[in-house]
Amino acid sequence: MTELVFAPQDIPTVAVANRQARFPVRRIFCVGRNYAAHAREMGRDPDREPPFFFTKPADAVVGDQAHLAYPPETDNLHYEGELVVAIGTGGSNIRPDAALNHVWGYAIGNDLTRRDLQLAARKLGRPWDWGKAFDHSAVCAAIHPVAEVGHIAKGSIRTYLNDEVRQDADLVDLIWSIPEIVAILSRSIRLEPGDLVYTGTPAGVGSMRPGDRCVVKIEGLGALTTTIVPPVS
Ligand code: MN
Repeated sequence: MTELVFAPQDIPTVAVANRQARFPVRRIFCVGRNYAAHAREMGRDPDREPPFFFTKPADAVVGDQAHLAYPPETDNLHYEGELVVAIGTGGSNIRPDAALNHVWGYAIGNDLTRRDLQLAARKLGRPWDWGKAFDHSAVCAAIHPVAEVGHIAKGSIRTYLNDEVRQDADLVDLIWSIPEIVAILSRSIRLEPGDLVYTGTPAGVGSMRPGDRCVVKIEGLGALTTTIVPPVS
């Protein structure tokens, strides 16, 4: 066994619905602008330009019912309700018609975003990391195995802020489908078991303050609740 100078952290994991065993997270990939109406609200042309990706650290993952401290360095923390695809079988250059064979399950996600930092970076042509890849920024509910729920290509996706509907769309409105996203990603990097893919958010993103409760619901996958609490001083 390799000798380590200090004990490594535990592998980040996500709950699996109705099971004790948890899903080990390897990497987190996120698709930018995958719903036309959201691309427009972000001031971009929703034409079918190739999808682009950004990443979050695996240990940014946090589960359902979390109470998250308002993060540092921002005054505009946004929710982004999203469908998350959990990869169970690795591969590179995956064909779209074979892509779903690599999917282990599906979950509801919330791609928390420090919008002010993201937009400042975008304006300056700098990386998005500080806007997207901060601590506890990858909220993910329990994963539902394909073996139980099948594959998901349509169904309502809604985000509620303090019980008020803020995002209301259908997964059929994804510009790039799940098989297409998996195939395209696998051309740039080899996908591995444990990878999570956040598939993009619909229109209606908005900011949260301490005390707010955000709930994302996707038909067939239940709900994901996140409560924002005051910043750590
Ligand atoms: Mn997103």
